[in-house]
Amino acid sequence: MKNIALHWQILLGMVIGIVVGYIFTLFPGGTDFVRDWIKPWGTMFINALKLIAIPLILVSLIKGISDLNNISQLSAMGTRTLGLYIASTVLAVFVGLSIVNIVNPGYLIQEDTREELMASFGSEADTKVTMAEAAKEVGPLQALVDIIPENIFFAASSNGNMLQVIFFALLFGIGLILVADEQSAPVKAFFDGVNEVIMKIVDLIMLAAPYGVLALMATLVAESPSLDIFYALGAYAGAVILGLGILTVLVYPTIVRFFTGISYKDFFKGISPAQLLAFSTSSSAATLPVTMERVEEHLGVEKDVVSFVCPVGATINMDGTSLYQAIAAVFISQAFGDDVTLGEQLTIVLTATLASIGSAAVPGAGILMLVIVLESIGVNPAGIALIFAIDRPLDMCRTIVNVTSDSTVALLVAKSMGRLTGPKVKNWDDNYRKKTP
Ligand code: ASP
Repeated sequence: MKNIALHWQILLGMVIGIVVGYIFTLFPGGTDFVRDWIKPWGTMFINALKLIAIPLILVSLIKGISDLNNISQLSAMGTRTLGLYIASTVLAVFVGLSIVNIVNPGYLIQEDTREELMASFGSEADTKVTMAEAAKEVGPLQALVDIIPENIFFAASSNGNMLQVIFFALLFGIGLILVADEQSAPVKAFFDGVNEVIMKIVDLIMLAAPYGVLALMATLVAESPSLDIFYALGAYAGAVILGLGILTVLVYPTIVRFFTGISYKDFFKGISPAQLLAFSTSSSAATLPVTMERVEEHLGVEKDVVSFVCPVGATINMDGTSLYQAIAAVFISQAFGDDVTLGEQLTIVLTATLASIGSAAVPGAGILMLVIVLESIGVNPAGIALIFAIDRPLDMCRTIVNVTSDSTVALLVAKSMGRLTGPKVKNWDDNYRKKTP
């Protein structure tokens, strides 16, 4: 495997995983075997990635912020980042709505298929609806209140509290900028060193990536429902995949090319391992350490920008999720025989943008927040039962878009602030291997 580029190694792992998973489904008890003996390796791999996420954000953000010369640079970076994140999410919703209005997948679903799906996945849908309702019963400013932790150790004890950790790291970094050089120098040197160690750990974990994704894909195939459902929901799934595909292979690389001059090929060479990992893990949070490493060390974005833009993006910027929520909302409404008016589509633009911001960076978060989008246009949220069966593969695809969008915004912000050195090494994988034992 040593001589094969990392993205090919991961792809190979995925293909072997699919084949292995499929073979096991052919034998009685095969699925149980996969669950007992293969799935745990995938879980261990994801855990290892998650393990490093909070320390990485904390250390690299403190280091990154303290490297900025002054606080006005930080506010310029913050404004640009948030502006671009909102703009890209709204763009994604528009792409989704355009496609769903052309394909109209909800009119293609048969009455009996609809009833069958509602009956089979009704209880799972109910659980999600109850969870979403609970999340809704909070005051309008609660989202802001939640950003400020009352205890940093408590906040750092859960990957779900990323924004709180980011908040603490920002404050700490600002404090470091403001104290005298002789006091800040040893603290900076400490974080510098720890940061290098953590980046090395990311490299080490990535050595296991091909095997980790093999286990994840084998489990996915062994546990997936029958292919009939994929055919029944083909037009809907096709519309989502088309939209996600347009963003990934057309919109982002073109924007990157236009504004930063980085070629299509270099962009994908730099970012593809993170994209493949996003696909295999369905979690932008788990992928975050790799996204940061690729954007910094392979696309040449300076650490101060990467360490702010990528973690914030993993938490609030989900273009793939917002596109999917727009298409799914129209699909479900159509499947129930209701047309979606122009006014309702505009409501979707707003609610899908907010719902994607509120979605956690973990598998299945998008479908939970879809409940809010559906309610905003008066569609019964239990309708998520219709798309439950194929949500996981679509989740895998939308997570690729979420990660690619974060990377694109990191490149744009870096370029606008003169913090983009560009692809540092031409031969990416040689560089990768040199750094790893
Ligand atoms: N799995 C997605 C992510 O981690 C969120 C979603 O469910 O759409 O980015």
